Amino acid sequence: MLLLRPHSLDEALDALAAHPGATLLAGGTDLMVRANYQGLRPEVVVALRRVPELQEMTGSFIGAGVTWSRLAASPWPGLAGAARTVGSPQIRTLGTLGGNLGTASPAGDGLPFLAAVEARVEVASRDGGTRRPAWDEFLVGPKRNSLQPGELILGVRLPPSLPERQEFAKVGARNAMVISIASACLVRSADGAVRIALGSVGPTPLRARRAEAVISAERHPSSAAVVEFGRLVAAEVRPIDDHRSTAAYRRHAAGVIARRLLERALA
Ligand SMILES: Cc1cc2nc3c(=O)[nH]c(=O)nc-3n(C[C@H](O)[C@H](O)[C@H](O)COP(=O)(O)OP(=O)(O)OC[C@H]3O[C@@H](n4cnc5c(N)ncnc54)[C@H](O)[C@@H]3O)c2cc1C
Repeated sequence: MLLLRPHSLDEALDALAAHPGATLLAGGTDLMVRANYQGLRPEVVVALRRVPELQEMTGSFIGAGVTWSRLAASPWPGLAGAARTVGSPQIRTLGTLGGNLGTASPAGDGLPFLAAVEARVEVASRDGGTRRPAWDEFLVGPKRNSLQPGELILGVRLPPSLPERQEFAKVGARNAMVISIASACLVRSADGAVRIALGSVGPTPLRARRAEAVISAERHPSSAAVVEFGRLVAAEVRPIDDHRSTAAYRRHAAGVIARRLLERALA
């Protein structure tokens, strides 16, 4: 195995141009599981931890190499709340937002926030320069993203102004060190507009657009409207049965956390 350790973005892009099929390594918290338990044997690995440009977190840009530990103290409550639930302190010290996007698991806890605020992913290659797909152009299926050979994720770009109220919650088999059975990020603007994105209840993070439209039309939602919001969200998700949960429980959980997040955002 050839291990390349670039010290700048330029060097990383050169390494990828020379080895377009190379495997990118950030914190390794997903990749090493694949190497240890699923037989992954890459010929060329490009390790990204020494690339300073990927560590930046400035203004509305979050570098792909920013770890969950740093995100837990970031100014975005919807993302900070998600970061605090990821794995253990060890996983949060190593794991990155870029790795969550690279793996593109429907259970990735950073992804509902990106979908709720309508973030763009910044992707770069030596020949293609930089492109900025919307979150749903990047996350295209379970564990599938639209990254092309020779490209790496630079980071994510958030819209310049974000809703003040941002809430995240997830449901799992226990309270900590748990992969989501259902997760959600809800954001609410001062004008009452609500957006909600859900994880683990579809092939990619999902927006519950009908529920959003109905609740956003109510400036001061009543208790009945909040309950109805949970019901509409539960109706819109597309969960499956798997080893972690039945689809029916996932649907139920999605409705419950949607209602609770809205209650929190209205408080
Ligand atoms: C014990 C344990 C608990 C976990 N708990 C959670 C949890 O609660 N919530 C959760 O969401 N996840 C969890 N995970 C999964 C994992 O920690 C996260 O997905 C993490 O964000 C991965 O980041 P990483 O930097 O370690 O990625 P890596 O393992 O280094 O890479 C993951 C994938 O992304 C690609 N990649 C990484 N960086 C880039 C880049 N800049 N450009 C292009 N591709 C890139 C890699 O090639 C690889 O395919 C857990 C994992 C473990 C082992």
